[in-house]
Amino acid sequence: MIEHLPNKEKMKIARHPMPEQDARARRNNFEEVALGYTREQAINEAQRCIQCKNPLCIDGCPVLIKIPEFINLIVEEKFHEALLKIKEDNALPAICGRVCPQETQCEEKCIVGKKNDPVAIGRLERFVADYDFANPSTSSSALSSALSSALSSALSSDQSKIASFKSNVKRVAVVGSGPAGLACAGDLNNWGYEVTVFEALHELGGVLVYGIPEFRLPKAIVKKEVNFLREKGVVFQTNTVIGQTITIDELMTEERFDAVFIGVGAGLPWFMNIPGENLAGVYSANEFLTRLNLMKANITEYDSPVMSCVGKNVAVVGGGNTAMDAVRTSLRLGTNNSYLIYRRSEAEMPARLEEIHHAKEEGVEFMTLNNPVELYGDENGRLKRMKCIKMELGEPDDSGRRRPVPVKGSEYILDVDIVIMAIGNGSSPLIQNTTEGIDFNKWGNIIVNPETMRTSKPGVYAGGDIISGGATVILAMGNGREAAKAIHEFLS
Ligand code: FAD
Ligand code: SF4
Repeated sequence: MIEHLPNKEKMKIARHPMPEQDARARRNNFEEVALGYTREQAINEAQRCIQCKNPLCIDGCPVLIKIPEFINLIVEEKFHEALLKIKEDNALPAICGRVCPQETQCEEKCIVGKKNDPVAIGRLERFVADYDFANPSTSSSALSSALSSALSSALSSDQSKIASFKSNVKRVAVVGSGPAGLACAGDLNNWGYEVTVFEALHELGGVLVYGIPEFRLPKAIVKKEVNFLREKGVVFQTNTVIGQTITIDELMTEERFDAVFIGVGAGLPWFMNIPGENLAGVYSANEFLTRLNLMKANITEYDSPVMSCVGKNVAVVGGGNTAMDAVRTSLRLGTNNSYLIYRRSEAEMPARLEEIHHAKEEGVEFMTLNNPVELYGDENGRLKRMKCIKMELGEPDDSGRRRPVPVKGSEYILDVDIVIMAIGNGSSPLIQNTTEGIDFNKWGNIIVNPETMRTSKPGVYAGGDIISGGATVILAMGNGREAAKAIHEFLS
């Protein structure tokens, strides 16, 4: 057993860097960039936590993971117990440990971080989940029953009595298999409901599989999490577009589901509405990444469903995680130049700092304070050039960030073969057009009661990007869990 150090000694330990693939090697492959802590590195990092009496890190986590408790279990080398502790609040730790913006959430609040670098909470979360995948001493059924009892104790005693009374099993339909849908399905399944997840695509996981690339979140990790739910009894039905194959109303009447959770995300890409966006060679980031991630466009034996990037100039427009994923993916497809064009400065970029840092290391050329104005093609309608304009920062706008203002007369031409628009997504109108009685706001997002995720239609709940617009994995999951609790109350 590792000894607990006095706080003074703990404060002397430096934050352990994440082992990573070398930048020159990784820009030529799709393997995961961050390699994960070893057992020793994890224990060493966990020892940095001073086990605060009032741990602010928990408030910084949108699903309130009991952070000091799970970190303490790592120090005691009780890795499976640490996983169970995390899973009481977070169904997908291997995923959140990789993609959550910890630097603006739990780690931003860490007390150690006031004097030193904060405890690497996300990396420790990932370690615990990966350790369990590699050393599955806890069978999925044991893990599942431990989880059920942990989750039941989170409910009131009356509620948990009902949850364990399974003779009158109620059925819940979950629409969409992204983090919101998976989290909702997981909790309802734990409480004894019969849950069917309907997914439009042929793969399960939402943005986790079709958006975030393999080098940041290996698909095998998402598959394991999905399989865990499947083994526990959640039914998954792919290639089923709700609103087309069958409507929400039909699910409730003809298919006799007692409640429905809508977690369809925000997958409708925005464009800039500038001349030339219909040229061949212009993609939305969603389309580009989906073709790569789900249709194997990076593997030469497959008919490549994206234009070859080899030796080409590719420009990605935007400054968020999606833009970073698209531009780093383009590099790995053998571009000559991969440009990132963003209308504000780097300080305003919404992407995670880690992704910005990795993109630079790999050779992405950052063109901040620039904006496209027009795209030009050749006689065959193929993109060839782009007119851009330089920008400067003016007064803050509604978002609190300084407004980008074009610099008069600063237009210039950039030779490009492919342009990928990554400027944000809205929601698809399909559910709105095919469901009676659900209120939507002017952006097409479903309006819910923020406490219960309940929509205006009785028995129908919603969460994730479809209520908020593009947000984060952990917020979507948190919504899914809130909705599960409310559905449980409704059906009880
Ligand atoms: P989604 O993940 O979008 O899942 C919705 C699912 O519903 C999809 O599988 C879709 O096919 C399905 N669906 C849609 N319509 C229907 C229908 N009518 N019938 C049946 N199924 C339907 N967040 C982070 O925290 N960290 C990151 O690093 C990060 N990187 C990102 C990178 C990219 C490229 C993108 C696009 C987003 C990223 N995000 C990141 C945001 C995060 O992924 C989303 O906020 C999150 O996935 C939203 O979850 P969701 O469950 O609401 O929706
Ligand atoms: Fe540990 Fe930091 Fe949380 Fe304090 S704030 S309990 S040091 S992780």
